[in-house]
Amino acid sequence: MVADNIRVRYAPSPTGLPHIGNIRTALFNWLFARHYGGKFIVRIEDTDRERLVPGAVEGILEGLEWLGIDWDEGPRVGGDYGSYYQSERLPLYREAADKLIGQGDAYRCYCTRERLDQLRVEQGRNKQALGYDRCCRSLTPEQQRALESEGAPSVVRFAMPDSGVTQLHDLIRDDVEWQNELVDDFILIKSDGFPTYHLAVVTDDHLMQISHVLRAEEWLPSAPRHLQLYRALGYTPPQHGHLPMILGPDRAKLSKRHGATSIMEYRDEGYLPDALRNFMVLLGWSLDDKTEVMPLTTMREGFTLERVGKPAAIFDREKLSWMNGVYIRAMDAGALADAMLPYLERDLPPELLPVDRDYLLRIVPLVQERLKLLAESAEMTAYFFAAQPEYDPANLVQRGATQEETLAALNRAAESLATADFTAPVMEELLRADGEALGLTPRRFFGTLRWAVTGRNVSPPLFETMEVLGRERVAPRLQTAIDRLSQVRSGD
Ligand code: GLU
Repeated sequence: MVADNIRVRYAPSPTGLPHIGNIRTALFNWLFARHYGGKFIVRIEDTDRERLVPGAVEGILEGLEWLGIDWDEGPRVGGDYGSYYQSERLPLYREAADKLIGQGDAYRCYCTRERLDQLRVEQGRNKQALGYDRCCRSLTPEQQRALESEGAPSVVRFAMPDSGVTQLHDLIRDDVEWQNELVDDFILIKSDGFPTYHLAVVTDDHLMQISHVLRAEEWLPSAPRHLQLYRALGYTPPQHGHLPMILGPDRAKLSKRHGATSIMEYRDEGYLPDALRNFMVLLGWSLDDKTEVMPLTTMREGFTLERVGKPAAIFDREKLSWMNGVYIRAMDAGALADAMLPYLERDLPPELLPVDRDYLLRIVPLVQERLKLLAESAEMTAYFFAAQPEYDPANLVQRGATQEETLAALNRAAESLATADFTAPVMEELLRADGEALGLTPRRFFGTLRWAVTGRNVSPPLFETMEVLGRERVAPRLQTAIDRLSQVRSGD
């Protein structure tokens, strides 16, 4: 592939927050640009005024930034080919439309909505292909003048060739062709004066000197329109590559019910940007058909279109969670503590805040193995912060043990730990000896202690946990356990 002057773009429409599919397109374009040392451009396609969603542009840019996808030209950073907002480029589209009208490749259409609706109904009834019947294509200049003088609203339509084929050599899908007669005379300029996507995208891809259009497969049906526009405008089209679809595990098109849709929901749930990026790059591309976890440098070095597949990619949420766990386990304690902090601040009860970072640094190695989502941070570590974890005192009594035995065990442990050196190996040795002296199996004895100290039956290794909690937290918890269990007894 010629690697000179590679310029690719991500061209989102701000009609909502970006979802996995949109961002996968951004990621592939970005990696392609970075691989070849080209430019990655962000262009906001905001010409569909009815579907604009306030805040969507900010959301899109924030999503890119969060994922570490930087752009060389576009909103905020500017560039030589601006504006990068289509709504600020209207004269350029009008100029293109006028040129097309002037040379007979486009025409004004005055058909009313009622007529078009009626047409669709009739075409449906007669089992004809749906589409504009080119009625206004043959208006005489006099007829047109008359309509204009009545002030009839109009759109501008492209005059598709009515025979022949349009061919695309797609970099991913190979050769595709369309019968021109089956493509209708699509609209270029709407009655509000704004261009349609088709005119705007072709004009801008040309003016911004885009070398490659890499976009989702759902845009493939638009390609013959765009290619005809390039021809009529006398422009050389960029190369095209249509990225494979993304399907849910049930093979239906990816939608909300397959999981969080906006990229920011993934952040809120505690996915790491690096993990999400690694997961997304595998939605249609592979390094070597086997490597799954890889650093960004490897993605960048390996990213070529030859390795983008045709088959649809399956979005597997479990794989994403697994990938997140892999990235979490690979972090050093400091980085993971910093990543967990915002979630702890969000989710811990306010009275437990602020979190002491040094203390958190000691907790991190204990939970790192089991943490899959950062949003689990508070739930997994709350007992480190709470003065006294809540639990049902009946849990202290392990299966096969009596309440007396349990009380004796708690008292003995409290006594031993009152003066012990509070390190895991010392405590373990001491308490194992205590268990033996009491005639309690380690499962029972340590099960009781685990409930008393953490308020749960599963926790990280008990002695390490106690070491991190320290005597100042462990001693009162043992005392509370003794008190509560005594109350349960007296209430019997
Ligand atoms: N604005 C279109 C979108 O929202 C861009 C399609 C294209 O890349 O040509 O996806």
